[in-house]
Amino acid sequence: MLHRKEIHHILDGYARDEITIATIGSHTALQILKGARDEGFKSLVICKRGTEEVYRQFGLADELLTVENFEQVLEKSFQEQLIKRNAILIPHGSFVEYLSPVRIENELFVPMFGNRAVLDWEADRGKEREWMERAELRLPVEFNDPADIDRLVMVKFPGAKGGRGYILASNHDEFEQKRKKLELRDKGEFTIQEYVVGTRFYPHYFYSPLKDKLELLSMDIRYESNIDGIARLSYILRDSLPEPSFVVTGNLPVVIRESLLPRVLEMGRRVITASQEMFSPGLIGPFCIETVCTEDLAFIAFEISARIVAGTNLYISGSPYSQLLYDVPMSTGRRIAREVKEAIKGDLLKEVVY
Ligand code: AMP
Repeated sequence: MLHRKEIHHILDGYARDEITIATIGSHTALQILKGARDEGFKSLVICKRGTEEVYRQFGLADELLTVENFEQVLEKSFQEQLIKRNAILIPHGSFVEYLSPVRIENELFVPMFGNRAVLDWEADRGKEREWMERAELRLPVEFNDPADIDRLVMVKFPGAKGGRGYILASNHDEFEQKRKKLELRDKGEFTIQEYVVGTRFYPHYFYSPLKDKLELLSMDIRYESNIDGIARLSYILRDSLPEPSFVVTGNLPVVIRESLLPRVLEMGRRVITASQEMFSPGLIGPFCIETVCTEDLAFIAFEISARIVAGTNLYISGSPYSQLLYDVPMSTGRRIAREVKEAIKGDLLKEVVY
C-alpha cells in the first residue's frame, strides 16, 4: 500500500488556495461537484467517453476530463495532470468499484479524501465482520455449514454484484437445490446469513476528525429489484414466486422514530471507535451502516459502506437531519468539501487526506 508519507509529500506541493475537488463522473458525483462549488472550490469531473453530457448539462464542474475507461485514471501521466491541478479525489462507490481497492491502495498517488486504509476493511467480508463485531453491532447469525440452516437465510456469493444472484433458502435441501442451479457460482466462497425480517434503515453518517464529532446527515431505504416488485404482487404470485433479487435501482427517503435516534448514533460512534482501534486514524468522513430494525426495535447490521453512499443523492438540498445541524443546505458532498475547507484553514489537511 502506498504509504501515508508518500501521499502527504505530494500534498506538501499543493497550493492551498488552488485546491481542486475532483471525482469520477458517476454515483454521487453531481452532489460532490455542487458541494465543492458551494464551498468555493474549483471542481473537476473525470468522465468515461459518452457520459460527459450529464455533467455538462448541470454545469457543476469547472473542468471535465474524458477517459476511454476508468483504469486510465491510474496511468502516471493522467495522475500527474490531476496533481498539477492540486486535486483532491473524492472516492465514492463506483470509484472504488471501477478502480478496485487494491489498485487504489497501490497505484493511486493522487491525494484522496479520507483514509484509504479503510478500503481493505470494507472490501473483505471477513475483515468487515471483524470490524462490526469489535463495534459491538448486532449481526445476522451466520451458518458455516449449510446442514445447520434452521431458518430463512440469504446466501451471499462474492461475485453477486449488487445483490443479483443472492439466494434465499429455508433449509439445507432448498439450499442444495438452488445451489445446483447456480453451478457457476458454486465454486466461490459464500456467506450463509440469517435473513432478518424487519424494516430497513441506511443511516448516512459523517465523522469529522477535526471536530472529533459524529453527525447524522440523512437516511434512506434502498429500492431493490425485483424484491420490491414482488412485494406488490405477492398475493397473485403466491404459487409461482420468482427467486428474489436485491439489485439496487433507486433510493427512498426515510426518517426514523425519534426515540430510536440515540441507538442510531451509538452504532455510528462505535463503528468510528472500533475503526480507530483497528486501523488508526480510522474512518474519516462519510459512511453508512446497512441495518434492519426488528419488531423488538433491535438493529441488526449487515454491512458498512465506508464512503459516501448513493442514498445521499436524495438530500442534495439537505435532509430533515442536516437541516437541524446546518443553516445551509448540507448534502454529504458539500459536507466533505466543508471538511476540506476547514482543514485548509487550520493547516490540518493531512488529518483528512490520504
Ligand atoms: P448487500 O449486498 O449486503 O448490501 O445486500 C443487498 C440487499 O439485500 C440489502 O440492501 C437488503 O435489502 C438485503 N439484505 C442483505 N442482507 C440481509 C439480511 N441479513 N437480512 C435481510 N435482508 C438482507
